[in-house]
Amino acid sequence: MFLSVVAPCFNEAAGLAEFHRRVSAACGGLASWELILVNDGSTDATWDGMTGLARRDPHVVCVNLARNYGHQIALTAGLRHCQGEYILILDADLQDPPELLDDMLRLMREQDADVVYGQRRARTGETWFKTQTASLFYRLMRRLVDIEIPLDTGDFRLMNRRTAAVLNDMPEQHRFIRGMVSWIGLKQLPILYDRDARHAGETNYPLHKMIRLALDAITGFSVIPLRLASMTGTAIGGIGLLLLIYTIGGWMTGRVVEGWTSLMIVMLILGGAQLLLLGIFGEYLGRLYLESKRRPLFVVDRVVTGQTLPRDP
Ligand code: UDP
Ligand code: MG
Repeated sequence: MFLSVVAPCFNEAAGLAEFHRRVSAACGGLASWELILVNDGSTDATWDGMTGLARRDPHVVCVNLARNYGHQIALTAGLRHCQGEYILILDADLQDPPELLDDMLRLMREQDADVVYGQRRARTGETWFKTQTASLFYRLMRRLVDIEIPLDTGDFRLMNRRTAAVLNDMPEQHRFIRGMVSWIGLKQLPILYDRDARHAGETNYPLHKMIRLALDAITGFSVIPLRLASMTGTAIGGIGLLLLIYTIGGWMTGRVVEGWTSLMIVMLILGGAQLLLLGIFGEYLGRLYLESKRRPLFVVDRVVTGQTLPRDP
């Protein structure tokens, strides 16, 4: 059995050695395995750390992206480079315990599953804000999206080659990988785990990246916001019609002039609603535009594998 561990890394220099140690320990019993480390345009010593590992350990494959493309694209790059029959996706910050590999493999074999995904039981070391927004997001997604995306699940998962092959064939630019995997279907089973605190360094998911991921997720899997836009438009149009009748009635009976307040309110609400709805259209239109360019998802600067480098004596 050949396993690929895929980990996107952005400014993870501080924790890389420990990550490699724990992954090696978890994979120690396997016949063959590789660790694909994708450097997503880090500005610290991550790349040097990676190639240092590759020099000592032939299991390590380092992929250097041409710049920072973001977590989901870095993960995509890793998935396209790995060659294993089974693929384990991990965060490089050790928030997902590599030690769970044995249980995941066992579950996959016993139940003949295609995907085993980690479902978070507890999250330690994360702010109240992060856990609350994450939980709100997963519940919102559940209402908006046509496919079933499991709650409290990140990208930590084990999948087989046929699942990864389907994923690799999906060309979209705006990737929400956990949703794309759910979309595939096949047999997907959860495994409960406790999400640890970050081992070293700090989170690379500030609020604006979280919002972007949420928008990619929603627009990538649902057109309900567009439908909502037309529903709101219809409702506002209906109210407008009633107001029109009222206004004409006022004009006919000579009761005019008054009513600056109501006029302002109607104008502000209408203006606001129109801009919001235009914004929703814009989100979809922008994505459509970017997709239509058919650019490659990422550019690889170079790949360094343990095998091709001279080993330390
Ligand atoms: N990451 C990445 N590119 C980015 C941001 C993050 O490759 O632009 C990687 C990061 O190194 C880590 C994983 O994605 O392995 C998850 O990021 P992070 O731990 O910062 O997110 P959080 O766990 O706080 O949601
Ligand atoms: Mg993390």
